[in-house]
Amino acid sequence: MKKSFQHSSKPSRKKKFGRKNSKKPTQVVSGDKGEDVVATASATRQTTAYLKKLFSEVGFSIDTKKGQNFLVDLNLLDLLERSADIQPDDIVLEVGSGTAALTERLARAAFRVVTIEIDSRLATLAQDRLVDADNVHLVNTDVLARKNKLSPDVLSALDEAEKERLAVDKKGRFLLVANLPYCVATPVISNLMLSKPFASATVTVQYEMAERMTASAGHHSYNALSVWIGSQCRTEIIRSLPPAAFWPRPKVDSAIVHLDLEEHRRSRILDLPRFHTFLRNIFCHRRKVLRGVLISLAGGKKSPEAVARIDAIYEKFNLERNIRAESIDPDTFVKIEHEFSLP
Ligand code: SAM
Repeated sequence: MKKSFQHSSKPSRKKKFGRKNSKKPTQVVSGDKGEDVVATASATRQTTAYLKKLFSEVGFSIDTKKGQNFLVDLNLLDLLERSADIQPDDIVLEVGSGTAALTERLARAAFRVVTIEIDSRLATLAQDRLVDADNVHLVNTDVLARKNKLSPDVLSALDEAEKERLAVDKKGRFLLVANLPYCVATPVISNLMLSKPFASATVTVQYEMAERMTASAGHHSYNALSVWIGSQCRTEIIRSLPPAAFWPRPKVDSAIVHLDLEEHRRSRILDLPRFHTFLRNIFCHRRKVLRGVLISLAGGKKSPEAVARIDAIYEKFNLERNIRAESIDPDTFVKIEHEFSLP
């Protein structure tokens, strides 16, 4: 059930913090406990001084466990937006609205923005900032229903946006553009690629994660995520970001990463959930010799059939017997998994 924020019962922060706006309501959005929020817009520059003043006036204390590090370098905010190359018919998902500094930019460029914020106090501030954005759907919820499952509220907001686009006869892409909360960056990207694939993703993440997302076989960061992304996307680290780009400053460097999903590569993966699980199983033993890992997944070394099956795969793809998972490129993984899963 949808209902709006009760503006009348809350002190108006718009006068204090936002530009004066028309009171045009924008989009009713669903909250984590079933409540919905009416989004509204302004165009205040998100600087450290602005955030400190805003948070002290509303008595908001930052929760860094929720990845609440706000992007305060406006050139980098520009770069993030430009790198996403949003077109007017695109639908954009943003995870982590914060105070909506990025959201309002996305809203100016896209057909529709679905923005997700777990923290209801920030959702309220974001809503205050979005007075004029009639194409924003702000969902006050955890983006994840479980570790490996996106929230159904997020998926239904995206479905709704797609229906609205279809209704006006438009065709566009679905993009992920976000300064991602670091705690959920991996499951958000992995699960979207499983169940709601984006055409491209342009995100800020911790630098170490950016390395994992873009690593090639043999790189020290190469892991299941690298293969999962590398088997479906062209990847690029656009820029590394120092802690000073954020307030409060995180302890580590970050990076803007861009992923372009390549449909012709993705379509070679016959069963995406199965491939995803396969990679997770393999990379639990990243440093072990792959042959042993595959044999144990196939039934164990005491099973002559299991050993013969794996040896046949090794022969077919001309793999060295002592090769490790960390040395095998994503496209070869796709072939190995396909062969491994044949009945
Ligand atoms: N977009 C803003 C910006 O660029 O300044 C804020 C980005 S901040 C890095 C991450 C935001 O994600 C925070 O506002 C935080 O509350 C929110 N967040 C953290 N975990 C979340 C989750 N599981 N689901 C949705 N939002 C989450």
